[in-house]
Amino acid sequence: MEIVLTGTGTPLPDANRAGPSTLVKADDTHILVDAGRGVVMRMAGAGSLPLFLRAVLITHLHSDHISDLNDVITTHWIMSQGNATLAIYGPPGTKEFVSRQLHALEADIGYRIEHHDQLTQGPKVEVVELSPEESFELDDVSIRTAATEHAPVRPTLGYRIEHGQAAVALVGDTIPCDGVDDLAASADAYVQTVIRKDLVALAPPGMLHDILDYHSDVEEAAQTATRAGAKRLVLTHMVPAPTTEQYPEWIALARKHFDGEIVIGEDLTTISI
Ligand SMILES: [Zn+2]
Ligand SMILES: [Zn+2]
Repeated sequence: MEIVLTGTGTPLPDANRAGPSTLVKADDTHILVDAGRGVVMRMAGAGSLPLFLRAVLITHLHSDHISDLNDVITTHWIMSQGNATLAIYGPPGTKEFVSRQLHALEADIGYRIEHHDQLTQGPKVEVVELSPEESFELDDVSIRTAATEHAPVRPTLGYRIEHGQAAVALVGDTIPCDGVDDLAASADAYVQTVIRKDLVALAPPGMLHDILDYHSDVEEAAQTATRAGAKRLVLTHMVPAPTTEQYPEWIALARKHFDGEIVIGEDLTTISI
């Protein structure tokens, strides 16, 4: 299984980091987790395309994680010439979000149907809303969900994806909680969105301070990795985004609590498990 970080950014615009998303390739089964800013460009860089997706999994409905879902839907529709159905899984609210996206695209959908004989209807999308502790299969890939904790954002889901002997936990934005421990248990890779609470706390009082109470800090993520027995800790969605010169400092903080491999994510970083 390959895990490609197709976006390691956050809501804060960054020229080098697309919005949050991760592509999991289990042989030919491609699964996208979240669909932030620039995701389709990064998928192309990762040797994939919306057309190749077996499914999109959404962790939660914060805009940074879903802002380019419309591009995934439209590109999938056009490149399949209207024939393929895009499967989207997410927490309750996902159906409404996708339906409103399709309404927002109504003019475009109409123009393209009028212009291309191959297109006789709008994008075919199948949305499945999930609860915590659900399991399902996509081809020979097993997926399990658990509740994460990102209040006041509710509901939020993390995913464990297994293929053969390999397992990865992709848990989205969350503070440490039982659901994350469960998904990351003995995983080959645990991908966690993180912030540096010590640095964010230095910002002037304002909205940035509000993020302190609903994200995992680097050290908390490392503690989770150890508690769960994960083999690799993969950091993504980092606030503030570190420069490469700052990577050793981030790794040192995680190393205080975790002996396994630590990966500071960059766009298109690929982890093979
Ligand atoms: Zn969020
Ligand atoms: Zn986020």
